[in-house]
Amino acid sequence: MASAAGPEIERLITLLAKLPGMGPRSARRATLALLKRREHLLDPLAKAMAEASARVRPCTLCGALDTVDPCTLCADPHRDASLICVVEDVGALWAMERGGAFRGRYHVLGGLLSALDGVGPGELRVPELLARTGEEVREVVLALPATVDGQTTAHYLADRLQPTGVQVTSLARGVPVGGDLDWLDDGTIAQAMRARRPA
Ligand SMILES: [Zn+2]
Repeated sequence: MASAAGPEIERLITLLAKLPGMGPRSARRATLALLKRREHLLDPLAKAMAEASARVRPCTLCGALDTVDPCTLCADPHRDASLICVVEDVGALWAMERGGAFRGRYHVLGGLLSALDGVGPGELRVPELLARTGEEVREVVLALPATVDGQTTAHYLADRLQPTGVQVTSLARGVPVGGDLDWLDDGTIAQAMRARRPA
């Protein structure tokens, strides 16, 4: 394709176009906006990205992303350590936090069981979850999507958690079938968390 920009700018466009929600057209517009506002946008963004790349790591306890380990959420003494909310990924964790209805700790699974995609329990952070359900934990909330894979994973986890004696609950419906937590409005998530029920 003919291009008006040099290879460095084309590279920026190509990389930005790989971001979710971006296509080549919006990547071009974003690149132009960055280059036009170099001091206020491009330079601070480049610095923030370099810092994130150097310092952000998954928390060894819950799997959330942070620059400290254990993460800020795990280290917060005001959060209820007897309550663990299991989420598919960090996006779902962030959605849950935006809802503001949950004041316990989290556990990021790192995916869902999927026969179709060949994802088995070994690919997920299941042993880490079981290891966390010691005497301190009284309830595990399964906040997984209402999809086939989400519900398969929830049943599997409920089975694995049963011998530990911990109470297992899941989010109430209100979470639409096929729904990804990340796409829900904050109020719906908060309501689903309050109306959770035994899994
Ligand atoms: Zn953590």
